Amino acid sequence: MPDPRGLDVLNNLLLGVLDALPYPFYVIDVEDYSIVLANKAAAEGIPPGRMTCYQLTHRSDAPCDDPLHPCPLTYVRETGEPIVVEHIHYDKEGNPRVTEVHAYPVRLKGDEILFMAELCVDITARRRAEAQAQRNQAELAAVLDAAPVLMMTLDEERRVRRANRAVAEFVGAPRESLYGQRLGEVLRCIHASDDLRGCGFGPSCGMCSLRNLIADTLQKRQPFYQREVTLLLGDGPPGRNYTFWAASVPLVRPTETLALLSLQDITPLKRALARTKRLLTFQETLHDILASAAHAEDLPALLKIVLDAVMDSTGVKAGAVWVGQEKVVSGVDETVVSACIRAAKETSLDWHKPIVISDVFRDHLAQPVYSWAVQAMIPFNLQALLGVPILTDDTCIGGLWVACFHPRQWSEDETVLLSTIGREVGTLAERLMLISRLQEVNTQLEEALKIKDIVLQNVSHELRTPLTLLKGYLDVMEEGVLGDLSAEQHNAIDVMRKNIERLEFMVNRLLLMRTIRGEVLQREPIAMARWLQAVAEEWRHTIEGQDSHFVVEISPNLPTIQADPQLLRQAVDNLIHNALKFSPQGGTIRLKAWQEGDEVIIAVSDEGIGIPADELDRIFDRFYQVEGGMRRRFGGLGIGLSLCKDIAELHGGRIWAESEGPNKGATFYIALPIHSKSEAP
Ligand code: ADP
Repeated sequence: MPDPRGLDVLNNLLLGVLDALPYPFYVIDVEDYSIVLANKAAAEGIPPGRMTCYQLTHRSDAPCDDPLHPCPLTYVRETGEPIVVEHIHYDKEGNPRVTEVHAYPVRLKGDEILFMAELCVDITARRRAEAQAQRNQAELAAVLDAAPVLMMTLDEERRVRRANRAVAEFVGAPRESLYGQRLGEVLRCIHASDDLRGCGFGPSCGMCSLRNLIADTLQKRQPFYQREVTLLLGDGPPGRNYTFWAASVPLVRPTETLALLSLQDITPLKRALARTKRLLTFQETLHDILASAAHAEDLPALLKIVLDAVMDSTGVKAGAVWVGQEKVVSGVDETVVSACIRAAKETSLDWHKPIVISDVFRDHLAQPVYSWAVQAMIPFNLQALLGVPILTDDTCIGGLWVACFHPRQWSEDETVLLSTIGREVGTLAERLMLISRLQEVNTQLEEALKIKDIVLQNVSHELRTPLTLLKGYLDVMEEGVLGDLSAEQHNAIDVMRKNIERLEFMVNRLLLMRTIRGEVLQREPIAMARWLQAVAEEWRHTIEGQDSHFVVEISPNLPTIQADPQLLRQAVDNLIHNALKFSPQGGTIRLKAWQEGDEVIIAVSDEGIGIPADELDRIFDRFYQVEGGMRRRFGGLGIGLSLCKDIAELHGGRIWAESEGPNKGATFYIALPIHSKSEAP
């Protein structure tokens, strides 16, 4: 008989152990699923009375029959083996929990299994954490795949373990096919194999510096960020240069350390940068050339500047530029240019695009259209040529070329530079040609004007003598020296005398016009009020004789000024003469004079044909007459007002005209300074 006290102790000990477990523990009768023993973690909340395991943990009326999650009791009973299964159990509050069920057969007599012991470990939190970790990993993979940067994990031998989508796309192979390959093989570095001995290209090789980067990462377990790595990649030589930004970060795992290598392909960026730099240099060169070309004074100077600058920037020894007949040649016999131009004309080549010959012996076959240029080059040992047309508005007016005595590959930038210069020089050359043509015309005009002045002066001089003679004979006839004259003959002599006086008036004006510039004034004091009054009285007879009215308003307090009375009289006479000439009969002519500040103003106005506003300034130009058929009837030479202007300005004064427009009359003003410049004010 066992010691009941001893059994009790054992029993209590076992129950104590079971109660100490943090997880529910049951002993279940395999016959009817009833719970025969439960520890504290399980018993808490178990309703009193008989209860099955499925009632308690599954909240079900029948045992489990889910084939994916088999009932442990059935399994233990049928196999006699323990089992661990995952079940959803409900906790005391009725919440589902993921539970790891550890079930063991319990044999009390012999082999027969009477009970099943079951330990239920709540793994809900673990499962949640695992699911979260899985999600994180998937997200990370998605992020890596979305990154445009090449990323891969590498082991100590630099074999690729994992790679993102960018790597697969860069090398053009499915990423799984890359796993296990060395980095050099994956990227197709043409510097032989990426083994530990190195490729023999020394430290300048990008692959070597990548290898060192990864080795450092793994050994020192530190991240390394390297600026730039240039690799020569391709399926074989010569390969193509790629530039990457490289970074390597250690991934420390319990069993090993991997390097996460990221490579950002900055080759397009580098190329764009290089192109931008080239473009900048190009712009600067173009700007310098055009800036100095813009200062050229004539076409030969322009062509020389351009050729020197272009030869300098392309570094060639021979070149030529021509526009029309003008040409500048450097470093080569001039006949080669003439030969080119002649040949081009003979083939009637409409030249608009650049001619690019890198090697004359090779290219003339490929580009028969250039055969003329080629024929002209070979005799002069020229082997490479870059030529562009000089264009204005798409018309070729010349050419610009640079050439070498050896083959030369012309860059696209050089072609564009020369073409741009060809167009710009076309515009500049056209402008210079226009200016030189204008200068020629100007010289011719000046020459013609000089001749005209000389002729005018000579003719006027020559006219004076016969006029004086004519007048003398008229006097003689009128006095009756040549016999008595009838009344009609007297009249005829009157008419002749008037016309001779008109002729004389015009001849004198012409002579005055010729001499007035540079004239030294014969100044003397003129008491303006009295002087003007006397002039007015002399005119009154003529004006009123033509049935016109004459109003004179001269301020009596006008000062005395130093002036040339002959010339001043000429100016005032001209204005009154014009007022009468351009007025209808019966009109009123006004002569006014007053002091305004330190000037005396003389104004002559009429009620005649008036002057259009846009002609008011031009009527003072020499030989200028307002256009219009009607006006010719007034005759004249168009020099009276220009004389008035000269006279006013010689006196340090001004002249101007005002008119309300056609048929509204006109007023002419002369302003004379009271103190001439030579006088103290
Ligand atoms: P012209 O000998 O032709 O009169 P002027 O130099 O004296 O030469 O005058 C130049 C032109 O100015 C005239 O042809 C005329 O068209 C215009 N002109 C001058 N004076 C007057 C005026 N008082 N009224 C209208 N037009 C005038």
